[in-house]
Amino acid sequence: MSDFIVSARKYRPSTFNAVVGQNSITSTLKNAIKRNQLAQSFLFCGPRGIGKTSCARILAKTVNCENITENIEACNKCVSCKSFNENASFNVHELDAASNNSVDDIRRLVDQVRFAPQIGEYNIYIIDEVHMLSTQAFNAFLKTLEEPPKHAKFILATTEKHKIIPTILSRCQIFDFKRVGINDISNHLAFVAKSEGIVAEKEALHLIAQKSDGSLRDSLSLFDRLISFSEKELIYQGVIEHLNILDYEYYFKVTSALLKNDINALLLLFNEILDNGFDGHHFIIGLSEHLRDILVAKDESTLQLLEKGEVLKQRYFEQSKFCELSFLIPALNLCNECDVQYKQSNNKRLLVELSLMRISSIGHQTAEKKSPKSFIVTLNDEKKHISVEKVAEIDKKIEKTPESHKKSEIEGNSEVADISSKSIPRISLSSKKKSKTLSITAAFKQMNEKKDVEEEIDVSKLRNADFSSTKMLESWKEVISFVKQKGKSNLGITLGVFLPELNDNFLIVLPLSNHSQVEMILEEKYMILEFLRNKLENDYIEITTKVIKGDKSNIPYTNKDKFAKMIEQNPHLETLRMKLGLDPDY
Ligand SMILES: [Zn+2]
Repeated sequence: MSDFIVSARKYRPSTFNAVVGQNSITSTLKNAIKRNQLAQSFLFCGPRGIGKTSCARILAKTVNCENITENIEACNKCVSCKSFNENASFNVHELDAASNNSVDDIRRLVDQVRFAPQIGEYNIYIIDEVHMLSTQAFNAFLKTLEEPPKHAKFILATTEKHKIIPTILSRCQIFDFKRVGINDISNHLAFVAKSEGIVAEKEALHLIAQKSDGSLRDSLSLFDRLISFSEKELIYQGVIEHLNILDYEYYFKVTSALLKNDINALLLLFNEILDNGFDGHHFIIGLSEHLRDILVAKDESTLQLLEKGEVLKQRYFEQSKFCELSFLIPALNLCNECDVQYKQSNNKRLLVELSLMRISSIGHQTAEKKSPKSFIVTLNDEKKHISVEKVAEIDKKIEKTPESHKKSEIEGNSEVADISSKSIPRISLSSKKKSKTLSITAAFKQMNEKKDVEEEIDVSKLRNADFSSTKMLESWKEVISFVKQKGKSNLGITLGVFLPELNDNFLIVLPLSNHSQVEMILEEKYMILEFLRNKLENDYIEITTKVIKGDKSNIPYTNKDKFAKMIEQNPHLETLRMKLGLDPDY
């Protein structure tokens, strides 16, 4: 380990041509040297690790070289070049203003400037992080910068150009260094890998380049770090694991699931991403970047804007063929919405899931597509399986059933407690427990209103057997004994106080005497509905209640009263009672 040299140092460029990704700057500098029109002071600006100091050193070396090549590069052979390459040249003076920013530091430097170099033509003063100099130090420096001796050249470097005072800016030739392009970085990494005898997958290098955000130095440090894990081999999968990068594979998969409206696959993928320790916010931002890249890849003229490997570019191009603009733009909008809402959201996971569902529903609201057999929705961190087979079909049937369910037209001195508005299941429930349900398409419509998501639906086919009022009353009796068996005797009594009436469209109206009874029924409504629907083999059955406010004396409390009421409805009952010799008051 003792002779290990970090790649950033080992592969520091020694000629202008070897500088990565700053071609316009190096060629300008070379031209200036060629024409002997070199400025006295330079300001190199730009982010860290992109070659400012390297360029400064190469410039210093080149102007002092005894045999500049035809190509305006240092020969790297003469005495001056050799001493530069060994970091032993007296012609270059570097000052790191980050740690030496006092007036005294600058004065010491200024004192040196007066002396002409003993070998070579120029003394070069490189001041790194020049924005860190104190105001006094700046002022002390200003005069020298204004009238430097001919043998002195200054190269100031900064990551924060806006902090440089105008008097300095106006005295320097300014060069703005750009972030190094991903392709340039990855090519350079490939060169380093080759020189080191390391087998590296192209995509792995690309990923490192992406992660280093335009900084060549960072990419090389990252490269070194990864090599130390993986012994002369750099594979894509390994890089992903070590850098904890959300793999673009995921985004390709997610996008194709979005296009197919495969909610099942989407939720599973998102779950996998979370399980791998990624953040939902990170994911949604990555997804928008991916969609943006697809947008760019749609046209061959903008395809070059994609800073990806050739193979990857091709994949983006392929996927973009399936993505219409009418999908991409609303999808990007929805991603953006999710991004904005993310921090305020209490159920972040659900927010992302809903966004995914909304995106996948783009262009699918009307088209009937293959619905997934079941999918998982997370509610309060619990995963629930939802089977949504034939959802579209169900929704159609529901639409066909008239609206009268909601508008119970019950006449007389009564008040209708409308419970159908509270998301009543219109389909059979497989589970014993109480479940709230919504159809998927209804869910999409209601998402903007932040409604609950359905928990459990199990649908095979909706039953719609016809039945008579009498048959309904028979089943009603069974409901009463069923709930009593379950130990809910109060409910049983409440259900038995009045006889329910059968309205159109299988709507059962149950009269009740007060609102607490209504509440009791509401609470157990699902159980009652399930029982009735199974008994009568009809999934369109609904129950609603009405509170009878009228004369209390009308309420049949005793068996005799009840029987009298029944006779009102069906006079044959009295004949039957007499024939059988029954006593209604038994
Ligand atoms: Zn030379």
